[in-house]
Amino acid sequence: MPELPEVEAVCRVVRRPLRGRRIVSAHVSRRRVCAPQTPEEFARAVTGRRFRAVERRGKNILIHLDGVTIWVHLRMTGNLYTIADARLRPVSVSAHLVLDNGRSLVFDDPRGLGVMRAIPAERLARALGPMGVDPLAPEFTPERFVALARSSRAAIKLFLMDQRRIAGLGNIYAAEALYCARIDPRSIGARLSSARLRRLHAAIVAVLSNAIKSASLAYQRPGGFAEAEEFDPAVYGREGLQCRRCRGRIRRIQQGGRSTYFCPRCQSGPHHVRRADRIRPG
Ligand SMILES: [Zn+2]
Repeated sequence: MPELPEVEAVCRVVRRPLRGRRIVSAHVSRRRVCAPQTPEEFARAVTGRRFRAVERRGKNILIHLDGVTIWVHLRMTGNLYTIADARLRPVSVSAHLVLDNGRSLVFDDPRGLGVMRAIPAERLARALGPMGVDPLAPEFTPERFVALARSSRAAIKLFLMDQRRIAGLGNIYAAEALYCARIDPRSIGARLSSARLRRLHAAIVAVLSNAIKSASLAYQRPGGFAEAEEFDPAVYGREGLQCRRCRGRIRRIQQGGRSTYFCPRCQSGPHHVRRADRIRPG
């Protein structure tokens, strides 16, 4: 599933070819991509309009036209790119927009779970719902992060993944950042020192920036959807394997219905939720 770095890479890839172009026609080949809008409504809303900007908010891609925004969510397998001629589009395309220079912007989505809807500018904020601070935005300062984390009674890993607090930090990068900062994923945000939280803030920014670099390389191949293959997780998906830092074993636990990977040996400190660990049924 594309996470924030892949979504950012997609935005960077399409930004330049769309700059200043106008949409000549819009074609939806999978009705549910724009539901509850009909394909006809979607086409009417965007045809004739000019591209203004491509913005990412969390994992949402906002393609701003004049007066209307195309809201794209890639979900599981979505990808967005331009091709020289609409006739060359793959069969897995959910929708495509023909541009005034003959090229086409395609929304390629093999599993077809993605979203591409036209939203009038004045209804955009409501359509997207409440969203936390984007971890790559200038507003994501160490001070802001410390204050947010300090107000949370949840396990720090769950806090990091709460989209109403921080938008777009998914399971993989939350685990990697906690490993980098040597913080136990079960620690309670409110109990962590501001020095440790500042270290975690720096780790989040570093982990995401690195992942964006490798995702951008992966997306250089025209049309090729690829999870960032160059990305080599330190803990994610490495249950039972050796920690590269201390040679302890990586462990997997469940938090909020998702797997959390961490190294119990070097992600430690005085702030664990020891009590929860001690409780054993029977
Ligand atoms: Zn370790």
